[in-house]
Amino acid sequence: MADPKLISKIPEGPIKDKWSKRKSSIRVVSPNNKRKLEVIVVGTGLGGASAAASLGEMGYNVKIFCISDSPRRAHSIAAQGGINAAKNYQNDNDSVSRLFFDTVKGGDYRSREANVYRLAEVSAAIIDQCVAQGVPFAREYGGYLANRSFGGVQVSRTFYARGQTGQQLLLGAYASLNKEIAAGTVKSYPRHEMLDLVIINGEAKGIIARNLVTGEIERFGAHAVVLATGGYGNTYFLSTNAMNSNGSAAMQAYRKGAFFANPCFAQIHPTCIPVHGDQQCKLTLMSESLRNDGRIWVPKKMEDVMKLRAHQIKASEIPEEDRDYYLERRYPAFGNLVPRDVASRAAKERCDAGFGVNETGLAVFLDFADAIKRLGHQRVEERYGNLFQMYEKITNVSPWKEPMMIYPAIHYTMGGLWVDYDLQTTIPGLFAIGEANFSDHGGNRLGASALMQGLADGYFILPYTIGGYLSHKFSEPKTDTNAPEFAEAEKKVAERIAKIFAVQGKETVDSIHKKLGHIMWEYVGMARNEEGLKKAIVEIGKLREEFWKNVCVPGTNGEVNQELEKALRLVDFFDIGELMARDALNRRESCGGHFREEMQTEDGETKRDDENFMYVAAWEYKGEGKEPELHKEDLVYENIKIVTRNYKD
Ligand SMILES: Cc1cc2nc3c(=O)[nH]c(=O)nc-3n(C[C@H](O)[C@H](O)[C@H](O)COP(=O)(O)OP(=O)(O)OC[C@H]3O[C@@H](n4cnc5c(N)ncnc54)[C@H](O)[C@@H]3O)c2cc1C
Repeated sequence: MADPKLISKIPEGPIKDKWSKRKSSIRVVSPNNKRKLEVIVVGTGLGGASAAASLGEMGYNVKIFCISDSPRRAHSIAAQGGINAAKNYQNDNDSVSRLFFDTVKGGDYRSREANVYRLAEVSAAIIDQCVAQGVPFAREYGGYLANRSFGGVQVSRTFYARGQTGQQLLLGAYASLNKEIAAGTVKSYPRHEMLDLVIINGEAKGIIARNLVTGEIERFGAHAVVLATGGYGNTYFLSTNAMNSNGSAAMQAYRKGAFFANPCFAQIHPTCIPVHGDQQCKLTLMSESLRNDGRIWVPKKMEDVMKLRAHQIKASEIPEEDRDYYLERRYPAFGNLVPRDVASRAAKERCDAGFGVNETGLAVFLDFADAIKRLGHQRVEERYGNLFQMYEKITNVSPWKEPMMIYPAIHYTMGGLWVDYDLQTTIPGLFAIGEANFSDHGGNRLGASALMQGLADGYFILPYTIGGYLSHKFSEPKTDTNAPEFAEAEKKVAERIAKIFAVQGKETVDSIHKKLGHIMWEYVGMARNEEGLKKAIVEIGKLREEFWKNVCVPGTNGEVNQELEKALRLVDFFDIGELMARDALNRRESCGGHFREEMQTEDGETKRDDENFMYVAAWEYKGEGKEPELHKEDLVYENIKIVTRNYKD
């Protein structure tokens, strides 16, 4: 029987008609009533910017918040490789069904079928929308939009703007947002960090935010709140995410009653620049697009590995027959373009076996020598020039001469706030979009599908579905921020800040966060097991205590204080990390990026347990220090045959 607290609201009927059916049944709000309604959007990445621009254009009154000094500096700007859409421009037999199928399979059959189909269905419109905005997608000589391929698929459906797709898409959304800001339908609050969600009579009615310039704690009311606050990959301290990315808004919502779904599903990206020393605070992604032409390998002979580590030979000097192109060997059908989780585990396997090619033993090669020979310098430059440049700047090694060195790193979180088909959380009036929700990617996201999801949510799904909620609200007055619920939430925020300053310890926020990162990577990373996960929960608890005894946050609240900002986020990272470990412990199966060592096939592949774990794990907060309660949303596949993922043949 379905959990009564998890009503997914998936429309009845054939999958291809569900979204049309839902849209036609959503009540709309007339233009004169839209003017009376206020919506808060937190986050200005592709999810938030596209949603706020759309809602503003529709006539709602929107307030948009972000941490950075301009909405256009959201983390989405970092996205490199591209955005998927089932346009079939390459005439390679792509279709909505194929994109749907690839995404469900890529997610290892742990995503909600109806949502994924809708995502595939609206994907083509995203490209049209962005082209209309002037996004400079790469084009073929004849003027057609160009495509490339990403992991886990056998067609070319990824649209891109060199290695800066996120930046160009965000500029498009930002231009639309600015139009609305100028028109007065959107009011922008940069340098404002949401620190709590305000609930009145069980509904989301506003937020408490800290002005990051003055330190002032401010109240903002609305008829509905949308969280587009991104993912929680920075729980691991080192990740490819922007330094400001955090999971705090999601945790604030979780503590107020929004369920958190599949927290343990985190994506580890196979092609990042390896960690250099222990003073690093950020990892750099080398785009998955590079796997279109780059070949991944390690030496076959241990003596070559040793010579490489001792800098006695260069990679280019190792003859072809002594190289192990291990992805091509293990997965002939997909080769270097297997999904991220598969490629990451395979790199780990080679490095664990001793074949890692740098001093730490934690690196493999990504080689372009063949591509340069085949395509010529100019074509490779056109495709990957800025990525090569970035790699050389960071490592001082030219990928034109020697292969890149890469290693897996935390990159994306598939888990997030549980949402129904309307993208509404378990709190009425609170919606979550983009990476902040759990909705579409199951146990593993395919490359170039995050941008697709963020923009699908923001341009084409939320603007309709939120209308269904707001259509019952236009006769309600504006939310009164003098209500006791606002005062209470504001008081709690002020107390939390005061408590942090009161510690006056000796350790920096970063050094404690780094320790959390070590625990997470060691026990809740690429490979997990029961003993390690139990240990992680205990260790995180101890670290939390250490924080409250010994953290040092200098300065005051009444000024720009980044240490305070980081400390507030770290408090939430402890809770997320613990929830991730708890969820990973509960999920006694391996699927997608969640690899439980106890559950693997003979050749080291993930072993799902469909009988017992074909569900979304949605966690309900039960109070501080109490164990959260697990709710299960069963996943039903009516349109896809469930099989074991196979990228070999
Ligand atoms: C290096 C890199 C490359 C990538 N390349 C690709 C790619 O090629 N293709 C692809 O599909 N995906 C890619 N991804 C993933 C993709 O970029 C993200 O998943 C996506 O951009 C997330 O968008 P978002 O709108 O959900 O959130 P984000 O872009 O993370 O934006 C979050 C917003 O919320 C704000 N915010 C957060 N917390 C608060 C708070 N408490 N108060 C106020 N504001 C807050 C932030 O300031 C920001 O404006 C890449 C990711 C990385 C790290």
